[in-house]
Amino acid sequence: SLSIRGLRLSYGSLEVLRGIDLDVPKGSVTCIIGPSGSGKSTLLRSLNRLVEMNAGEVTLDGADIRAMKPETLRAKVGMVFQHFNLFPDHTARENIMLSLTRIKGLPRAEARRIAEARLADVGLEGRGDHRPANLSGGQQQRVAIARALAMEPEVVLFDEVTSALDPELVKGVLNLMADLGRRGMTMVVVTHEMGFARQVADQIVFMDEGRIVESGPPDQLFDAPRTERLKSFFAEVL
Ligand code: ATP
Ligand code: MG
Repeated sequence: SLSIRGLRLSYGSLEVLRGIDLDVPKGSVTCIIGPSGSGKSTLLRSLNRLVEMNAGEVTLDGADIRAMKPETLRAKVGMVFQHFNLFPDHTARENIMLSLTRIKGLPRAEARRIAEARLADVGLEGRGDHRPANLSGGQQQRVAIARALAMEPEVVLFDEVTSALDPELVKGVLNLMADLGRRGMTMVVVTHEMGFARQVADQIVFMDEGRIVESGPPDQLFDAPRTERLKSFFAEVL
Protein backbone atom coordinates (compact mmCIF):
# COMPACT_ATOMS: atom_id res chain seq x y z
CA SER A 1 0.00 0.00 0.00
CA LEU A 2 0.93 3.62 -0.49
CA SER A 3 0.86 6.00 2.44
CA ILE A 4 1.15 9.77 2.15
CA ARG A 5 1.64 11.93 5.23
CA GLY A 6 1.88 15.72 5.43
CA LEU A 7 3.01 16.04 1.82
CA ARG A 8 3.89 19.62 0.89
CA LEU A 9 5.26 20.90 -2.37
CA SER A 10 5.95 24.37 -3.73
CA TYR A 11 7.02 25.68 -7.11
CA GLY A 12 9.05 28.72 -6.07
CA SER A 13 6.76 30.77 -3.84
CA LEU A 14 3.63 28.98 -5.08
CA GLU A 15 2.51 26.33 -2.60
CA VAL A 16 0.80 23.70 -4.73
CA LEU A 17 0.36 20.85 -2.22
CA ARG A 18 -0.46 22.06 1.27
CA GLY A 19 -0.36 19.00 3.47
CA ILE A 20 -1.76 15.87 1.83
CA ASP A 21 -2.59 12.78 3.91
CA LEU A 22 -3.81 9.78 1.96
CA ASP A 23 -3.71 5.99 2.14
CA VAL A 24 -4.01 3.85 -0.96
CA PRO A 25 -4.55 0.25 0.15
CA LYS A 26 -3.12 -2.58 -1.92
CA GLY A 27 -5.54 -3.74 -4.60
CA SER A 28 -7.72 -0.63 -4.39
CA VAL A 29 -8.64 2.04 -6.90
CA THR A 30 -8.42 5.66 -5.75
CA CYS A 31 -9.84 8.33 -8.04
CA ILE A 32 -8.70 11.92 -7.60
CA ILE A 33 -11.07 14.61 -8.79
CA GLY A 34 -10.97 18.38 -8.50
CA PRO A 35 -10.77 21.62 -10.44
CA SER A 36 -7.95 22.60 -12.77
CA GLY A 37 -4.88 23.78 -10.88
CA SER A 38 -5.84 22.04 -7.63
CA GLY A 39 -2.60 20.02 -7.63
CA LYS A 40 -3.78 16.61 -8.88
CA SER A 41 -0.99 16.10 -11.43
CA THR A 42 1.61 17.46 -9.04
CA LEU A 43 0.50 14.97 -6.41
CA LEU A 44 0.84 12.05 -8.86
CA ARG A 45 4.21 13.29 -10.08
CA SER A 46 5.50 13.57 -6.53
CA LEU A 47 4.62 9.91 -5.93
CA ASN A 48 7.23 8.68 -8.36
CA ARG A 49 9.50 11.65 -7.78
CA LEU A 50 9.17 13.34 -11.13
CA VAL A 51 8.96 16.32 -8.75
CA GLU A 52 10.44 16.37 -5.26
CA MET A 53 8.28 17.07 -2.25
CA ASN A 54 9.38 19.77 0.21
CA ALA A 55 7.99 18.17 3.33
CA GLY A 56 6.15 15.09 4.47
CA GLU A 57 6.61 11.40 3.88
CA VAL A 58 5.50 8.91 1.26
CA THR A 59 5.98 5.22 1.90
CA LEU A 60 5.40 2.27 -0.41
CA ASP A 61 4.87 -0.97 1.50
CA GLY A 62 6.52 0.74 4.45
CA ALA A 63 9.61 1.97 2.60
CA ASP A 64 10.28 5.71 2.26
CA ILE A 65 10.27 6.52 -1.46
CA ARG A 66 13.07 9.06 -0.98
CA ALA A 67 15.36 6.27 0.17
CA MET A 68 14.84 4.40 -3.12
CA LYS A 69 16.85 4.79 -6.27
CA PRO A 70 14.75 6.56 -8.90
CA GLU A 71 14.88 3.46 -11.17
CA THR A 72 13.69 1.23 -8.35
CA LEU A 73 10.87 3.61 -7.52
CA ARG A 74 9.79 3.95 -11.16
CA ALA A 75 9.76 0.20 -11.58
CA LYS A 76 7.42 -0.06 -8.58
CA VAL A 77 5.27 2.98 -9.34
CA GLY A 78 4.15 3.05 -12.98
CA MET A 79 2.69 6.13 -14.60
CA VAL A 80 0.46 6.70 -17.61
CA PHE A 81 0.05 10.23 -18.96
CA GLN A 82 -2.55 12.15 -20.93
CA HIS A 83 -0.28 12.40 -23.97
CA PHE A 84 1.00 8.80 -23.85
CA ASN A 85 4.69 9.84 -23.91
CA LEU A 86 5.61 6.99 -26.27
CA PHE A 87 8.89 7.16 -28.17
CA PRO A 88 7.75 8.03 -31.72
CA ASP A 89 10.70 6.37 -33.47
CA HIS A 90 10.18 3.02 -31.77
CA THR A 91 7.53 0.40 -32.43
CA ALA A 92 4.88 -0.42 -29.85
CA ARG A 93 6.84 -3.53 -28.88
CA GLU A 94 10.12 -1.62 -28.54
CA ASN A 95 8.43 1.06 -26.44
CA ILE A 96 7.51 -1.65 -23.95
CA MET A 97 10.83 -3.49 -24.21
CA LEU A 98 12.93 -0.38 -23.55
CA SER A 99 12.06 0.02 -19.88
CA LEU A 100 12.40 -3.73 -19.35
CA THR A 101 15.90 -3.85 -20.79
CA ARG A 102 17.09 -0.46 -19.48
CA ILE A 103 15.49 -0.23 -16.05
CA LYS A 104 15.05 -3.90 -15.19
CA GLY A 105 18.07 -5.11 -17.13
CA LEU A 106 16.21 -7.99 -18.74
CA PRO A 107 17.67 -9.72 -21.79
CA ARG A 108 15.99 -8.70 -25.06
CA ALA A 109 14.35 -12.07 -25.67
CA GLU A 110 12.72 -12.02 -22.26
CA ALA A 111 11.66 -8.39 -22.69
CA ARG A 112 10.18 -9.24 -26.06
CA ARG A 113 8.14 -12.11 -24.63
CA ILE A 114 6.74 -9.88 -21.87
CA ALA A 115 5.99 -7.07 -24.34
CA GLU A 116 3.98 -9.42 -26.57
CA ALA A 117 2.05 -10.76 -23.58
CA ARG A 118 1.18 -7.28 -22.28
CA LEU A 119 0.17 -6.11 -25.78
CA ALA A 120 -2.21 -9.08 -25.94
CA ASP A 121 -3.59 -8.14 -22.51
CA VAL A 122 -4.61 -4.70 -23.76
CA GLY A 123 -6.12 -6.02 -26.97
CA LEU A 124 -3.21 -5.18 -29.27
CA GLU A 125 -2.04 -8.61 -30.27
CA GLY A 126 -0.28 -8.39 -33.62
CA ARG A 127 0.25 -4.60 -33.42
CA GLY A 128 3.72 -4.80 -31.93
CA ASP A 129 5.39 -3.66 -35.16
CA HIS A 130 3.39 -0.46 -35.42
CA ARG A 131 4.96 2.87 -34.60
CA PRO A 132 2.85 5.24 -32.47
CA ALA A 133 1.95 7.38 -35.51
CA ASN A 134 0.34 4.32 -37.08
CA LEU A 135 -1.89 3.60 -34.13
CA SER A 136 -5.07 5.39 -33.05
CA GLY A 137 -4.98 7.55 -29.92
CA GLY A 138 -6.79 4.84 -28.00
CA GLN A 139 -4.33 2.21 -29.20
CA GLN A 140 -1.37 4.44 -28.29
CA GLN A 141 -2.81 4.84 -24.82
CA ARG A 142 -3.17 1.06 -24.55
CA VAL A 143 0.50 0.70 -25.46
CA ALA A 144 1.36 3.20 -22.71
CA ILE A 145 -0.72 1.17 -20.25
CA ALA A 146 0.87 -2.08 -21.44
CA ARG A 147 4.29 -0.48 -20.96
CA ALA A 148 3.43 0.45 -17.37
CA LEU A 149 2.05 -3.03 -16.63
CA ALA A 150 5.06 -4.78 -18.15
CA MET A 151 7.18 -3.53 -15.25
CA GLU A 152 4.93 -5.38 -12.79
CA PRO A 153 4.49 -2.26 -10.69
CA GLU A 154 3.06 -2.18 -7.18
CA VAL A 155 0.95 0.85 -8.10
CA VAL A 156 -0.01 2.50 -11.38
CA LEU A 157 -0.75 6.23 -11.54
CA PHE A 158 -3.03 7.48 -14.33
CA ASP A 159 -3.19 11.20 -15.11
CA GLU A 160 -6.23 12.06 -17.23
CA VAL A 161 -5.36 9.32 -19.66
CA THR A 162 -8.55 9.69 -21.70
CA SER A 163 -8.60 13.49 -21.93
CA ALA A 164 -6.74 13.69 -25.22
CA LEU A 165 -8.70 10.87 -26.88
CA ASP A 166 -11.44 11.18 -29.44
CA PRO A 167 -14.77 10.56 -27.70
CA GLU A 168 -15.37 7.21 -29.38
CA LEU A 169 -12.04 5.89 -28.07
CA VAL A 170 -12.57 6.88 -24.44
CA LYS A 171 -14.79 4.01 -23.44
CA GLY A 172 -12.40 1.28 -24.53
CA VAL A 173 -9.57 2.70 -22.45
CA LEU A 174 -11.85 3.21 -19.43
CA ASN A 175 -13.08 -0.38 -19.75
CA LEU A 176 -9.49 -1.59 -19.82
CA MET A 177 -8.73 0.38 -16.66
CA ALA A 178 -11.86 -0.90 -14.92
CA ASP A 179 -10.72 -4.40 -15.81
CA LEU A 180 -7.29 -3.81 -14.29
CA GLY A 181 -8.97 -2.57 -11.12
CA ARG A 182 -11.13 -5.68 -10.93
CA ARG A 183 -8.03 -7.82 -11.31
CA GLY A 184 -6.56 -6.22 -8.19
CA MET A 185 -4.15 -3.67 -9.61
CA THR A 186 -3.51 -0.84 -7.14
CA MET A 187 -4.36 2.32 -9.03
CA VAL A 188 -4.47 6.06 -8.44
CA VAL A 189 -6.49 7.69 -11.19
CA VAL A 190 -6.84 11.41 -11.82
CA THR A 191 -9.92 11.72 -13.97
CA HIS A 192 -12.71 13.96 -15.19
CA GLU A 193 -14.79 10.88 -15.97
CA MET A 194 -17.24 10.98 -13.09
CA GLY A 195 -19.10 7.86 -14.27
CA PHE A 196 -15.87 5.89 -14.19
CA ALA A 197 -14.96 7.29 -10.76
CA ARG A 198 -18.32 6.38 -9.34
CA GLN A 199 -18.36 2.85 -10.77
CA VAL A 200 -14.76 1.80 -10.38
CA ALA A 201 -13.27 3.66 -7.43
CA ASP A 202 -13.05 2.23 -3.95
CA GLN A 203 -12.28 5.71 -2.69
CA ILE A 204 -12.72 9.16 -4.19
CA VAL A 205 -10.52 12.07 -3.23
CA PHE A 206 -11.67 15.62 -3.96
CA MET A 207 -8.81 18.13 -4.11
CA ASP A 208 -9.02 21.89 -4.16
CA GLU A 209 -6.22 24.42 -3.79
CA GLY A 210 -3.62 21.86 -2.82
CA ARG A 211 -5.64 20.14 -0.13
CA ILE A 212 -7.90 17.13 0.14
CA VAL A 213 -11.26 18.68 0.88
CA GLU A 214 -13.27 15.45 1.06
CA SER A 215 -12.58 11.77 0.59
CA GLY A 216 -14.54 8.59 0.99
CA PRO A 217 -16.42 5.88 -0.88
CA PRO A 218 -18.07 7.00 -4.15
CA ASP A 219 -21.65 6.78 -2.89
CA GLN A 220 -20.85 9.00 0.05
CA LEU A 221 -19.21 11.72 -2.03
CA PHE A 222 -21.61 11.64 -4.95
CA ASP A 223 -24.84 11.27 -2.99
CA ALA A 224 -23.99 13.26 0.11
CA PRO A 225 -21.19 15.78 -0.47
CA ARG A 226 -20.47 17.52 2.81
CA THR A 227 -18.79 20.70 1.59
CA GLU A 228 -20.05 23.57 -0.52
CA ARG A 229 -16.90 23.30 -2.62
CA LEU A 230 -17.61 19.73 -3.65
CA LYS A 231 -21.28 20.54 -4.27
CA SER A 232 -20.36 23.40 -6.57
CA PHE A 233 -17.72 21.24 -8.30
CA PHE A 234 -20.35 18.59 -9.04
CA ALA A 235 -22.74 21.29 -10.21
CA GLU A 236 -20.14 22.22 -12.82
CA VAL A 237 -19.07 18.77 -13.99
CA LEU A 238 -22.13 16.54 -13.62
P1 ATP B 1 -5.47 20.18 -14.34
O1 ATP B 1 -6.81 19.61 -13.94
O2 ATP B 1 -5.61 21.43 -15.15
O3 ATP B 1 -4.54 19.18 -14.94
P2 ATP B 1 -4.05 19.89 -11.79
O4 ATP B 1 -4.99 19.74 -10.66
O5 ATP B 1 -3.41 18.68 -12.36
O6 ATP B 1 -4.79 20.72 -12.95
P3 ATP B 1 -1.35 20.81 -11.38
O7 ATP B 1 -0.87 20.57 -12.76
O8 ATP B 1 -0.88 19.89 -10.32
O9 ATP B 1 -2.94 20.93 -11.31
O10 ATP B 1 -0.91 22.29 -11.00
C1 ATP B 1 -1.12 22.85 -9.72
C2 ATP B 1 -0.55 24.24 -9.70
O11 ATP B 1 0.85 24.19 -9.86
C3 ATP B 1 -1.06 25.15 -10.81
O12 ATP B 1 -1.24 26.44 -10.27
C4 ATP B 1 0.05 25.12 -11.81
O13 ATP B 1 0.09 26.32 -12.55
C5 ATP B 1 1.27 24.97 -10.95
N1 ATP B 1 2.36 24.25 -11.62
C6 ATP B 1 2.29 22.99 -12.11
N2 ATP B 1 3.46 22.59 -12.62
C7 ATP B 1 4.32 23.62 -12.42
C8 ATP B 1 5.71 23.84 -12.71
N3 ATP B 1 6.46 22.88 -13.30
N4 ATP B 1 6.24 25.02 -12.37
C9 ATP B 1 5.51 25.99 -11.77
N5 ATP B 1 4.20 25.85 -11.47
C10 ATP B 1 3.61 24.69 -11.78
MG1 MG C 1 -3.36 17.80 -14.22
